[in-house]
Amino acid sequence: MHYPFKNPPLPYQYSALEPNIDSRTLHFHHDKHLQTYVDNLNKALEGHPQYQNWTLEELIAKNHELPDELRNPVKNNAGGVYNHILYFESMCSPNTCNPSGKLEQLIKDTWGSLDIFYAKLKEAALGQFGSGWAWLLMDVKGELHIKNTPNQDVPPFAEFYPLLLVDVWEHAYYLQYQNLRAGYFDCWVDLINWKNVEQRFETACTLAEKA
Ligand code: MN
Repeated sequence: MHYPFKNPPLPYQYSALEPNIDSRTLHFHHDKHLQTYVDNLNKALEGHPQYQNWTLEELIAKNHELPDELRNPVKNNAGGVYNHILYFESMCSPNTCNPSGKLEQLIKDTWGSLDIFYAKLKEAALGQFGSGWAWLLMDVKGELHIKNTPNQDVPPFAEFYPLLLVDVWEHAYYLQYQNLRAGYFDCWVDLINWKNVEQRFETACTLAEKA
């Protein structure tokens, strides 16, 4: 994926996450917020043909190689596009699934139990002051981490492979949950598409073996 970037359609219907996330929220989030990041990223790159063949990941990872005036707009908007695509892909209709197999075992080895893992992820989501994201990441040694990032920052690709993330910008939940980030988080947990997370985990394991 490179310039001109497009907003990929949601991998499910707008009502698919109801009642946990309503279709009104998803319409605004995907069609307005994500679309704005896509548009602003394209606008930033419009007059810079030498960077138009860079992939989304390259624009994020090699941001420091861009000219001064491009760095911030590309960082914020490429991050916004990357994070949102991953966020929408990480959800599916309400379910009571949990991680299974190797990933389940690694989570238990790392935090002691699934409940503690969910509690730590919630702590990171609620602990992010202002707008940002909470992540489950795998590092290059194959160890799991929970982290939060402000704004549209992406954890460095050279260190971490992203497995799962939750959007804690107010626009992700305000229409339905108003200021109650904790209520949103508790309902978001039942939307996690663990099959997709496990696929990313398999890819991450392959990359970690090569590193
Ligand atoms: Mn968002």
